[in-house]
Amino acid sequence: MRKQEIKQQIEIIVPLWEEILKKSIVNDEQLCKILKGKVNAQDIKKVIEKYPMNINPYYLSLIKKQDDAIWKQCIPDIREVEDDFGFDDPLHEEEDSPVYGLTHRYPDRVLLLVSNKCAMYCRFCTRKRKVGVCYKSMSKEDIQKGIEYIKQHKEVRDVILSGGDPLLLKDDELEFILKSIREIKHIEIIRIGTRVPCTLPQRITPELCAMLKKYHPLYINTHFNHPDEIRAESKRACTLLADAGIPLGNQSVLLRGINDNPAVMKKLMQKLLTIRVKPYYVYQADLTKGTNHFRTKVSEGIDIIRSLRGYTSGMCVPHFVIDAPGGGGKIPITPNYVVNKEGNSIKLKNYEDKEFEYIEPG
Ligand SMILES: *Cc1c(COP(=O)(O)O)cnc(C)c1O
Ligand code: SF4
Repeated sequence: MRKQEIKQQIEIIVPLWEEILKKSIVNDEQLCKILKGKVNAQDIKKVIEKYPMNINPYYLSLIKKQDDAIWKQCIPDIREVEDDFGFDDPLHEEEDSPVYGLTHRYPDRVLLLVSNKCAMYCRFCTRKRKVGVCYKSMSKEDIQKGIEYIKQHKEVRDVILSGGDPLLLKDDELEFILKSIREIKHIEIIRIGTRVPCTLPQRITPELCAMLKKYHPLYINTHFNHPDEIRAESKRACTLLADAGIPLGNQSVLLRGINDNPAVMKKLMQKLLTIRVKPYYVYQADLTKGTNHFRTKVSEGIDIIRSLRGYTSGMCVPHFVIDAPGGGGKIPITPNYVVNKEGNSIKLKNYEDKEFEYIEPG
C-alpha cells in the first residue's frame, strides 16, 4: 500500500477528532513542557488535584499569547483554589433532579445530562463539580431512566441534551438517545447544548450531520465566548450543521478579563452571525466555587447589551440573563428604556437616550 492509502485507512478506523482528543494535555508535566517557563508547575498541580485539566491540542493552538482570552479559559489558575467563595451546585441542579442527570425546572422542558466528558475543561464551568471529576458518569441505564421520566411526563415538549458535551458521545450512542426521545409523541423539539463547534470543531463530520438531520426539529446551541475562537475550522463545522437544517444559537458566559468589554462582545456577536450562529444568551457568571475571579458586576452586562441594541443588527443582540442562585431559573436583565408612565402616555428613550412618547389605547 502506498503511504497515502495507509493514512486514509487509519483515518477511517479512528476519526480525526478522537485522535486530537487522545493528545489532550491533562497533567502539569505536559503543560509545563509546552508553555516553557510561563506557568508554575506547583500551582498547576495544586489546582488540577481539585479541578482536573483537559486541553485538546486544537484549542491550545488558538492561544496567541500568555493570558489571552483563550489561555484564561483553559489554563488552570491558582485563584481557583485560593478563593473559597461560592457553591458546588449554585443552580440546585441536583435538588431539582427527579432522576439522576435530569433537571425538570420549567413547566414544559427538561435538561438531560447525557455525557460527563468535554472536549476541553473550561476553568469557569458551572458544572465544575461534575465535569471530569464526576461522582458517577452517565450510564446507559441512567439515560434510560431519564427517557422513561420524559415518557411519563406529557407536559414536557422540549428536551435539552447537555452534559458535559453530548457531542462527545459516539454517533451511535447519541443516535440511540435521539431516536428514543423522538419516539415519544409529546416531544416537539430536541435541543443539544455543545461547545464542540468551538473547542473541537473536527468533531462535526458529514456522518454526524447526516445522522442528526433524521431527528428534526433539532436545534443546537453552541458556546463561543470570544471572537478569537471563531476560526476556519469552526466556520466549517457550523456550515455543515446549518446545511443539515439545524438552527444554531450561541450561549456565552460573561467573563472578567475575557469578554467583559462592549467592543469584544460586539465583534463576537457579529462574527457569530457570519458563521450562521444566532446569539441567544449571555450569562452572568454563576456563584460556582473556584470561578469567582471570572465574575463581573451585573451593570457591566447591562452596559454590553446597551452598547449592542440599536448600534448593530438586532439579530446580534442576545438576552442577558442571570441563572438565579438556588434554582429559580433564568432571569432576564435589560437596560431600562421606559422613562415613566402617566395615564396612557408612556415616555420612552431610545438607544441614543432621545425621549419619545407612545400613547396606549385608552
Ligand atoms: C437553561 C435551562 C433550560 C432551557 O431554558 P430556555 O430558556 O428554554 O432556553 C431548561 N432547563 C434548565 C434546568 C435550564 O437550566
Ligand atoms: S464545555 Fe461546557 S460543560 Fe464542558 S467544561 Fe466547558 S462550560 Fe463546562
